[in-house]
This record gives sequence, structure tokens and C-alpha cells, in this order.
Amino acid sequence: MLGFTLSEEQLAIQKLAREFTGKEIKPVATKFEKDEEGKLAEGIFKKTAEVGILGLPIPKEYGGSDASNVECSIVLEELAAGCGGIATAIGASWFGQTPIMLAATPEQRQRWLPPLTRDGNLCCMAMTEPAGGSDIENPHMHSRTIKTIIRAAGDHYLVNGTKIWPSNATNSYLYTVVATINPELGDEGSCLIVIPAGTQGLSFGKPIKKMGMDADCNSEIFFDTVRVPKENLLGKVGDGAKLLQRTLIYNRAGAGAIATGIARGAFEIALKYAKERTVAGKPAIEHEIISAMFADMATEIDAARLLYLRAAWFNAQRLPNMAWSTMAKVYCSDVAMRVTTNAVQVMGSYGYSREVGVEKYMRDAKIMQIYIGANELTRQVIGESL
Ligand SMILES: Cc1cc2nc3c(=O)[nH]c(=O)nc-3n(C[C@H](O)[C@H](O)[C@H](O)COP(=O)(O)OP(=O)(O)OC[C@H]3O[C@@H](n4cnc5c(N)ncnc54)[C@H](O)[C@@H]3O)c2cc1C
Repeated sequence: MLGFTLSEEQLAIQKLAREFTGKEIKPVATKFEKDEEGKLAEGIFKKTAEVGILGLPIPKEYGGSDASNVECSIVLEELAAGCGGIATAIGASWFGQTPIMLAATPEQRQRWLPPLTRDGNLCCMAMTEPAGGSDIENPHMHSRTIKTIIRAAGDHYLVNGTKIWPSNATNSYLYTVVATINPELGDEGSCLIVIPAGTQGLSFGKPIKKMGMDADCNSEIFFDTVRVPKENLLGKVGDGAKLLQRTLIYNRAGAGAIATGIARGAFEIALKYAKERTVAGKPAIEHEIISAMFADMATEIDAARLLYLRAAWFNAQRLPNMAWSTMAKVYCSDVAMRVTTNAVQVMGSYGYSREVGVEKYMRDAKIMQIYIGANELTRQVIGESL
């Protein structure tokens, strides 16, 4: 049956995430830029574990809450309304976990999932490479552009290659790595392998300074003949491409939710300001042209939310739909860019000021149109589904 309200349990989770964001994230949201060692963000990740947010998607038997894609997406919107970088780091940790949830054996789940509910332990989805990110996500490229190679050596694999940009690159507990036994084999050679932090041969570049999303740590990841037991492979060689595409369906809905939260966070600040700021003798919001801008922003945010919730709801029913998740990612990220730009606009130079903090949402919004499928590639994915 079609319904437009969240369940009581979902409303409780949303409330928890909203309160957490108000108390722990909003007061420090503009401080991550100067938090070069990531200590501030690390403290927040630990607290998300303490309140049960970090382990939300993990099944109860492994210490999580067994929350569906709907609850997880609602939480990502709330976190992103406070800080897109924190939401991205948590969402990306769930991105790295998704293939484990989809394809791990009971033994692998027992080994990897419980720690990901504790101590702020994050997971990293190591997919993008220096020669290109979109092509690895692009099903038409059939995994031929993957340059991270695994080679069998007795009961181990040896992993060589370089990744760049993954969220939680230097601060993860576990790395889910997109690799191949031979790029010329196409999808038949593709695989996903899980590598714990601290494994010999795994090292990192310096954190990359970015336009926004400072709470998320991105850098190069180097695999220099990393020796990994064969039992760390998810499924079998040849499963990688399919597993990655299924993973993208779940996590593009989450990206839509993050983008919606970024838009909402900026909108709320700008709306309050426009009610208080007097221009031409009356509150800014009472000018028709400004009021119309807010009407469009509010409408687009609601439309974005409905779109990501549809995708997440079907994911939760185990009926994942690539086109719907991708529509959510594309539309919500475009809304985030438009709404945050207009939020800055209606606040005049105060909007442009680093002190006020609304411009941060605009900087965070930009990458939403690029990561987990640049919007040109993802529009193509939607177009092909029609
Ligand atoms: C904050 C942040 C978080 C990230 N998190 C992760 C993560 O968790 N894991 C991970 O692996 N990576 C992550 N990334 C990397 C990100 O997903 C990639 O950068 C993205 O997929 C684009 O890849 P690229 O930068 O190599 O651009 P390219 O693939 O080189 O694309 C460049 C541009 O070409 C265009 N383009 C690409 N493909 C097509 C096409 N088929 N048709 C038409 N035009 C096209 C688009 O305009 C695109 O922006 C993150 C990056 C950032 C900045």
C-alpha cells in the first residue's frame, strides 16, 4: 500500500539522527577544514558508533541494527543537513560494507561486520583509480580499465595497484577493493577483495585538500604486493562487476539522501535569515521574488526526498532498481547545487562569508554531482533504461 508517512521506528531513528546532528555536528561543521589530522572527525565517528548510527545497516546478529536502506538514507539526510563531509564518510563506509552484506559467506561476515559497528571503525570502498573513476563504474567498459591486479600465489593473492580519492582512505578499518586478475578478461576477470588496515604493503598518500567535504579523508592508496588470504575474496573471480553494480544501486540512493540533506541544511539557514533580514523596508522573505525562490527550493527538496525514498524503499524490499537509484542520485545532487547556490544568493555577502557557514553547503554540494557516478555518466545510465 502506498503511504506517505514514516513508521514510528523510522521516525525515532530520524529523531535520533537529527538530535545527534544538532548536538555533535552542527556546532563544529565549519571546523573540519582546519582539522588536518582528522581528530575532530574521528571523535564524531566514535560517537556515531556509541549511539548506534554507524552500525545501522549491519544485521543484529553481528551487533548492528538491521536497518533497511530507507532508515539508512533518512539518517544520511539528517547528518548531511549538518555536514556533508561527515555524512559522506558514514555513507561511504556503508558503501564499502554493501558488497560484504551482499556476497560474504557467514564466516566472512562474522570476521568483518561486528568491528564495523564499534569504535568509529570505518570501511573504505576503494574503487576509483588515477586513470579514471567513471569508467570503473561504467558497465559498458566491462572492467577493462581496472588496473589494480590480484595474482594467485598459493593460498594467497598478491595485490598491486593504486587507488585515488576513496572516502575514508587513510582512516579505515577495512578496505573493499575493486580489482581484476587481468583487465583484458573484462568482467570475467573482475573481483572484489577485502583487505584489513595494517596489512603489509598497504600505504597511503597525503590527504588531498579539496573544495569541500573536509570531514572526509581522501588520498591515494597504494597496494605494493599486498598479501591477502584467498578467503578474503568476495564470491569468486568474475563476480566483481556484477557485485559493484548491485552495490551502486544501494549506495546511489544514499548519495541522493546526502545531497538532499545538504540542500536542506543550506535552505534552513537561508530561510531563517530571510525572515530576519530587512531589505527595502520589509523582511527579505516578503518580497515576491525571494518568496518564489524559497518556494522553488522547498519544492525541489521535497521532490528530491521522495525520489531517494522511492529508490531506498525498493532496495529495502530487495527489489533494487538501478534507474530509480540513479535518478535519485542525479536529481538530488542537481537540487543540492541549485538550492545551495540560491541560499548563498538570498543571504547576500553574509552568504558568501566563511563565518556564517552557508557557503560550505555550496562547496560540499558540488562533488555530489561527481562522485558515485558523474552526472553525465549516470544520466546515460538512466537514458539507457528508458
Ligand atoms: C569527496 C569525495 C569522495 C569520494 N568517495 C569515493 C569513494 O568512496 N570510493 C571511490 O572509489 N571513489 C570515491 N571518490 C572518487 C569519485 O567517485 C570519482 O572521482 C568519480 O567517480 C569521477 O571519477 P574521475 O574523477 O576519475 O573522473 P573521470 O572519470 O575522469 O570523469 C571526468 C568527467 O568526464 C565526464 N564523464 C565521465 N564519464 C562519462 C561518460 N560515460 N559520458 C560522458 N561524460 C563522462 C564527467 O563530466 C566527469 O566528471 C570520491 C571523490 C571525492 C572528491
